[in-house]
Amino acid sequence: MSAVPQPAPAVTVRAPAKVNLHLGVGPLRADGFHPLDTVYQAVSLYDDVTVTDARAWSVGVTPVGGVDVNDVPLDDTNIAVRAGRALVAHHGTDRCARIEVAKGIPVAGGMAGGSADAAATLVALDRLWDLGTSDDDLLALAAGLGSDVPFALLGGTAHGTGRGEVVEPVDDDGTWWWVVVPDDGGLSTPAVYAAFDDLGGGGGSIGAGAVRAALGTHDAGELGAALRNDLEEAALHLRPGLVATRDALRGAGAVTLLSGSGPTYLGLARDHEAAHRVRQALLDQGLTAVVATGPVAGAHVVTHG
Ligand code: ATP
Repeated sequence: MSAVPQPAPAVTVRAPAKVNLHLGVGPLRADGFHPLDTVYQAVSLYDDVTVTDARAWSVGVTPVGGVDVNDVPLDDTNIAVRAGRALVAHHGTDRCARIEVAKGIPVAGGMAGGSADAAATLVALDRLWDLGTSDDDLLALAAGLGSDVPFALLGGTAHGTGRGEVVEPVDDDGTWWWVVVPDDGGLSTPAVYAAFDDLGGGGGSIGAGAVRAALGTHDAGELGAALRNDLEEAALHLRPGLVATRDALRGAGAVTLLSGSGPTYLGLARDHEAAHRVRQALLDQGLTAVVATGPVAGAHVVTHG
């Protein structure tokens, strides 16, 4: 009697997008980076990453909810593959995997979708191969892959310093309602930082204290008044059409914030009903808009079979 073929073991990990409630950017350092003082919040837009053992590294990307995935590389430069290779090198093994990304986070949208994939891949492969990587080692590997990757592991709400890779959890037991408005086409993060430098930015950023205090009030009005993104002027300079998106959100009653380096715009709404009203107003104007809440969990296993 021949054995019934079993499906290859697979692990799926879900990782969230991030918004920066405060993004304070200091002047360019000699090492080419800008010091950041930021408050991240993980929000309910996700990439799901599924890994299976394979003879060689490969990656595939499937769009979820109309996300444009054309600019995601399918070779070794994909940050998910880089994450897998970094984990394998750390453990001194020579295993390989197939990585499938179901992408619900806008690409190059300032919501750290690539970082989410890197964090998810680290967690998924660690579980697939039973590597038992410590949390400290995962965070160190994540920091080596990109400034936003440690936060994608952590999730919730966190204070980020250094290049953003030094993360400390922040108390945030509220539920915040966001209307997320992606733009057509991404914005390059390095280009936004270059525009920030050209515009003379980084001179006098204030700290994240106002946002941290506002989180404890559970009041969207208080948080809205404290939101701040030092990259907003640079992103609007590079993409003047974003002013119309910002004004549409404001006209619908939301407090606006550019997400990270953009071009995704965010509207903070008072509650669930207000968020859906704002979204509908944007849809009526022909814009794309989805409702998301935060904070949500960082990279976590959803299936293991
Ligand atoms: P950040 O704000 O962290 O700089 P972002 O959210 O603006 O990033 P990402 O979606 O992370 O942007 O992608 C930035 C670029 O990285 C893309 O344009 C793409 O070329 C490249 N990239 C590499 N791997 C991935 C991936 N797994 N998913 C998305 N983009 C990827």
